[in-house]
Amino acid sequence: MRQKIVAGNWKMNNDLEAGKKLALEVLEKSTGSEKAQIVLGAPFIHLTTVVEALGGKNGIEIAAQNCSDKESGAYTGEISASMVKSTGTNYVILGHSERREYFNESAALLASKVDIALANGLTPIFCCGEPLEIREAGSMYDYVKQQLTESLFHLSAEDFAKLSIAYEPIWAIGTGKTASSEQAQEMHAELRAHLATKFGQEAADACPILYGGSCKPGNAKELFAQEDVDGGLIGGASLNADDFLAIVNSF
Ligand code: 13P
Repeated sequence: MRQKIVAGNWKMNNDLEAGKKLALEVLEKSTGSEKAQIVLGAPFIHLTTVVEALGGKNGIEIAAQNCSDKESGAYTGEISASMVKSTGTNYVILGHSERREYFNESAALLASKVDIALANGLTPIFCCGEPLEIREAGSMYDYVKQQLTESLFHLSAEDFAKLSIAYEPIWAIGTGKTASSEQAQEMHAELRAHLATKFGQEAADACPILYGGSCKPGNAKELFAQEDVDGGLIGGASLNADDFLAIVNSF
């Protein structure tokens, strides 16, 4: 059976104290026997504190929300994958639509980031998803498949086996407008079939594909009940420990 994952993406919210408090609240309210792997996607500056606060308890993992495509050197303001790993963080969210849109992250750049993350022992959660106009034009499957082709299809089978994918339709992010469970399932199945053309059916069947975009306690159960929906990448609702854990417990 595929691994289930529910990852919070805190984005640029909370100062250090509030981030630590939120992490501790998730720890306190979790049991360690959840059916899904819990991942908390914290800002860079929170990583060390959050990793230390959780101390590996209840199996909770931490993610960075980005990393540099460079190993090290004169890149003022950047954070490398090895720096992230050295904090005890094991996951990294890459290719989020906000990074693609506001920071001009291209498919080629993301391919490099995936490589450097994997080389440093980080598990990428690779994000993909279409804008509203592509959905309305009906070309969303080709559009999102292309995102996977361009940034992931150079990987070896061994490396591909380490990552997870998050499908996040841009029109559903922070809008309160969720993809229907049918829309999510159709896209996830299309993406899995596309991955199988490159990496084989067995590898595609083993790859967790998460849904993100206005996922909440009220809709998580129905989304997660879909055959190809293996969890969620949660924005707004991950900032509240009770809501986040209600989503985690929707499996
Ligand atoms: P919301 O859950 O706030 O819609 O955000 C989704 C997201 O972008 C997670 O990465």
